[in-house]
Amino acid sequence: MDAIEGRTALVTGASRGIGAAIALTLAREGANVVLTYASTTSRAADVVAQIEALGRRAVAIQADSGDPAAVTAAVDAAAATFGGLDILVNNAGVVVLGPLEKMTLADIDRTFTVNVRATIVATQAAVRHMTSGGRIITIGSNVADRVPGPGGSIYAASKSALAGLTRGLAHEFGPRGITAVVVQPGPTDTDANPAHGPHAEQTIARTPLRRYGQVDDIAKMVAFLAGPGGRHVTGTTITLDGGFNA
Ligand code: NDP
Repeated sequence: MDAIEGRTALVTGASRGIGAAIALTLAREGANVVLTYASTTSRAADVVAQIEALGRRAVAIQADSGDPAAVTAAVDAAAATFGGLDILVNNAGVVVLGPLEKMTLADIDRTFTVNVRATIVATQAAVRHMTSGGRIITIGSNVADRVPGPGGSIYAASKSALAGLTRGLAHEFGPRGITAVVVQPGPTDTDANPAHGPHAEQTIARTPLRRYGQVDDIAKMVAFLAGPGGRHVTGTTITLDGGFNA
């Protein structure tokens, strides 16, 4: 019942970065995958082609997570295309950094709309299609637990909200056999946070494992949680940051 083989996964924000790695890893484990993205259609098409080359089915849907109707439609399309939905990965996120005094209402709203509200909306839509063994896996951030310096208050607040949400989801959907977990990456090499960016050296120096996270580090944990290994894991957060928060 919990094996990934033959199941359907929806991964939001999966045209590149952590989301693309999750989509590909779930496909390697045997899932058919629907992925959403904001604007990079060609990158999304590349991910679809890579999944199809693995012998799995994949569909890319342009759906801005800021648009609740688009998010709901993507979830419903995934269920309609593949006959149900088993795994939801809420990955799409925006990072707006800067001094609190300079944050506009638009910055604040965008951060919470994409990082938090879209997760709630996608989950509402997904649980209508899920049966026992369903998985709701949300990508948070290690800054939810420890903010390393100034400029990240709004982003950290949005990621902390996911932990509270997930604890509630565990109670609401546990009796139906559906789990909810937050996976919190630390600094991970993507377009949003490149391993050779201006702060990378300092980041590695303060990371006990002395390495920058790679997208596969996150994807493998998500696949573990999506499969039989995640059967008894719910209402909690798992931080994958090389010890950065320790
Ligand atoms: P990237 O910027 O590399 O990729 C972002 C992905 O999300 C792209 O596929 C992008 O689509 C999509 N996306 C962005 N905004 C939206 C939106 N409004 N609606 C739908 N899709 C959207 O990001 P990462 O892979 O680095 O980050 C993924 C998640 O991991 C985020 O939630 C982030 O907060 C979290 N995270 C990342 C860390 C890191 O160090 N990289 C650390 C901690 C957490 P498109 O290609 O069309 O733009």
